[in-house]
Amino acid sequence: MGKVIIIGAGGVGTVVAHKVAQNPDVFTDILLASRTLSKCDDIAAAVLAKTGTSLKTAKVDADNVPELVALFNDFRPELVINVALPYQDLTIMDACLEAGVNYLDTANYEPIDEAKFEYSWQWAYREKFEKAGLTAILGCGFDPGVSGVYTAYAAKHHFDEMHYLDIVDCNAGDHGKAFATNFNPEINIREVTQKGKYWENGQWIVTEPHEIHQPISYPNIGPKESYVIYHEELESLVKNFPTIKRARFWMTFGQEYLTHLRVIQNIGMASIVPIMYNGVEIVPIQFLKATLPNPGDLGENYTGETSIGCRIKGVKDGKEVTYYVYNNCSHKASYEETGAQGVSYTTGVPAMIGAMMFLKGEWKKAGVYNVEEFNPDPFMEALNIHGLPWHEVHGLDLEV
Ligand code: NDP
Repeated sequence: MGKVIIIGAGGVGTVVAHKVAQNPDVFTDILLASRTLSKCDDIAAAVLAKTGTSLKTAKVDADNVPELVALFNDFRPELVINVALPYQDLTIMDACLEAGVNYLDTANYEPIDEAKFEYSWQWAYREKFEKAGLTAILGCGFDPGVSGVYTAYAAKHHFDEMHYLDIVDCNAGDHGKAFATNFNPEINIREVTQKGKYWENGQWIVTEPHEIHQPISYPNIGPKESYVIYHEELESLVKNFPTIKRARFWMTFGQEYLTHLRVIQNIGMASIVPIMYNGVEIVPIQFLKATLPNPGDLGENYTGETSIGCRIKGVKDGKEVTYYVYNNCSHKASYEETGAQGVSYTTGVPAMIGAMMFLKGEWKKAGVYNVEEFNPDPFMEALNIHGLPWHEVHGLDLEV
């Protein structure tokens, strides 16, 4: 049915490669391209051994538009699944427009020299994609991604008006390392060290980093200290569901993780400002990334599970109602299936499903869209089939 290019051979790329290969009726021709060819070849070998599907591989610098265009013109994919870094979003979108290819990613654009992410840069491509008759699907991982689909599903089936949205993200896994991040360390540390921000009564409320916190109880896990941080899907969700009065994103962090993070910041290792070291210019956070464990390699001894969901309060048929929809994902089961841990798995599976929705024509319209702007039903059905089953609870006395 479809030809796709996956760009990025990290933890998430590993999962996307396995999942597309498991669905050869939809993904008929697959090319995995990244900066380091040997990583693509290693993933392709693992995928072949597990699924019997052969992937093509290629080297590409996704910061370089002409190089991307040449690759796209050579392979002629229908869709690019971008699971490289947020820095590459705009160059890949430019190349898609030039070569006439549709686009999907899992994280919004972030300039490399400024720790700031927002949708404005990518939303500015809306008219260009419309005119070209191409689809761009933004933020199709778990959060952003499934969090937006859950919200759209809740709006469609369970509420007349949604008022309070809390996205609750718990990683109760243990990888046995004193400090490691679950996805790209540079992007992760930039995200979690910034100020907190949430939406209330039509405006953004900014807090100090990790200022608001409380224990939240997660299914099958129990209470975990959870912190309000800013997360990109809040921006599109409050725009697409304007009845929401308050929207917050909560993430769990262990004390050990936060202590390491504080030290890293205090000694300047989280800085994105280049410094000279022995005559060479280095960016501290990029150097730090090189010393930290590779998130893609955490899987082997990773125990425990993640639990991510949406807790929503609002009104249905004149009555106040609450709705909680979530998935729990085991790190061990993710590793056994794909060789990657649960955070990569929960991101890569929705990226594959989004690509499947596009190729099946369910999520296909010219322009640039966040996931909640599409019909959530076929995506929700696919989550149950492809490894991220969801559960729902009605009428819970939600503590957040
Ligand atoms: P990794 O760092 O493990 O992998 C990133 C990959 O992109 C690497 O293979 C890297 O190449 C490649 N890459 C980087 N720069 C370039 C470039 N210029 N040209 C070509 N390839 C390049 O990251 P993850 O797999 O953990 O994360 C991938 C994406 O998923 C990130 O954007 C992240 O923000 C997003 N994400 C989204 C989540 C969600 O739920 N929505 C959750 C987790 C992650 P090399 O191997 O040579 O370094």
